[in-house]
Amino acid sequence: MFIKAGATNMTGNDDLRALVRTIPDYPKPGIQFRDVSTLLLDGPAFRRTIDRMIALVDPDSFDLIAGIEARGFIVSAAMSYALEKGKIMLRKPGKLPGKSVFIDYALEYGSDRIEMHVDAIRPGQRVLLVDDLIATGGTAMAGVQLLRGQGAIVERALFIVDLPDLGGARKLAAAGVTPTSLMAFAGD
Ligand code: AMP
Repeated sequence: MFIKAGATNMTGNDDLRALVRTIPDYPKPGIQFRDVSTLLLDGPAFRRTIDRMIALVDPDSFDLIAGIEARGFIVSAAMSYALEKGKIMLRKPGKLPGKSVFIDYALEYGSDRIEMHVDAIRPGQRVLLVDDLIATGGTAMAGVQLLRGQGAIVERALFIVDLPDLGGARKLAAAGVTPTSLMAFAGD
């Protein structure tokens, strides 16, 4: 079944939502950290997470999956394995051995940089962007810009968790990328 693009599939994922732990005031006061490590500890629940993310997309609509370091790698690797799609690593600074491009971006709590190999994609390849969580959207937007800068077509992004009050999903939609997540935590 395909869920309406751009939606958070709120119903049916309460089992997974219950496994996401909330840590108040991490990494700084006022931030409610939605910790998926507790969901990852539950093997069958992780499998359901990946199965449900896969059910949200048409595998024929993309060529590669891009995951954002580090929790995004967990999602992208599992989806890549199941769908037999190649994956692109969007990495923290200084980790990639080959010629790379980077982009700096603002976080909910600070700033960061991600990098990718310049030869990771061929222009015109369609890339699905995945991460564990979208908050302000700064990280995902940086990924989109980095990928598009290398000629990728990026039209869909998938997340386990959306924090809708922080506006990241809206930012992606405004940039022509349809975001979908399995659950939302409103009020953050
Ligand atoms: P953002 O760029 O603001 O959308 O932040 C997204 C990235 O930072 C994701 O890779 C998340 O893993 C992490 N992140 C940001 N805010 C939170 C939060 N409140 N709880 C858990 N992870 C977060």
